[in-house]
Amino acid sequence: MTTHELDLLENAIDSLAEALAKFEAGDDGEPKAFKFAVLHMAHFVELVFKHHIASKHPLLIYKEPFAAKVDRNKTITLWDAINFINNEAADTVSPALKKDLEWLKRLRNDIEHHKFRMDVPEVRATIGRLFRSVLEFLENHTDIELESLIPESTMETFQVLSDEYEFKLRTALQEAEAFEAAHPVEHHDPDARPARLDCENCGNPTLVQNDQSSTGYRCLFCENENGDNIPTACDICGVESTQGELDAWELDEGGYEYRCYYCSGRYHLDKDD
Ligand SMILES: [Zn+2]
Ligand SMILES: [Zn+2]
Repeated sequence: MTTHELDLLENAIDSLAEALAKFEAGDDGEPKAFKFAVLHMAHFVELVFKHHIASKHPLLIYKEPFAAKVDRNKTITLWDAINFINNEAADTVSPALKKDLEWLKRLRNDIEHHKFRMDVPEVRATIGRLFRSVLEFLENHTDIELESLIPESTMETFQVLSDEYEFKLRTALQEAEAFEAAHPVEHHDPDARPARLDCENCGNPTLVQNDQSSTGYRCLFCENENGDNIPTACDICGVESTQGELDAWELDEGGYEYRCYYCSGRYHLDKDD
């Protein structure tokens, strides 16, 4: 590698490390940090694509490599790099990734011109998707192994951002925490139902109250709506219990009815034994 290539890669890694640190600060409750995560991520993407072009030939980093005298102040843009890559083989940078790159460019522009309106969930989701697409590109088309190059302190964030499952899980946990904080249990009401429960399907504390659900709860991670721990009232006498404690009676007209120990007749059966 030439010096220029090394500089590009080193600077790209520095920007990525900054982006990861700012993303983490954002997730730790400092929403403004996402603004800087966007700026650093945009810089990382630009540099890493330029590095990829420079690795083909060092002169390709300049706008006019065929000029009589190369102007070394004029270098290619991210879009020049992407066009080059797609001219080599169509859709190497997919239309979907290009769309996310356009989004990143617009957002960076808005931030730089102080027109930025933060939509945190959108920013988080798009940064995650874009980062995973760029990673996939680097894995398939370059020898760069980002994981071995980034600082140890950013490794956890790297894992969350690079793995769709981990990313989804962290997002669901955040939403569940926020939901619980916004819906405190009324302690003077003995029948008050908790805002959040453990989901028996995926094992995460992400089962929260949901009006659309027939059980009154839905998991933010796996969308499960059932569980022995879900508060449920007996359909006959109305006593508060849980799904697991009640008997589910199949109705003639379809569906189920939940009955408590007494209303199901179990009490009388046990007594007669
Ligand atoms: Zn779940
Ligand atoms: Zn009952």
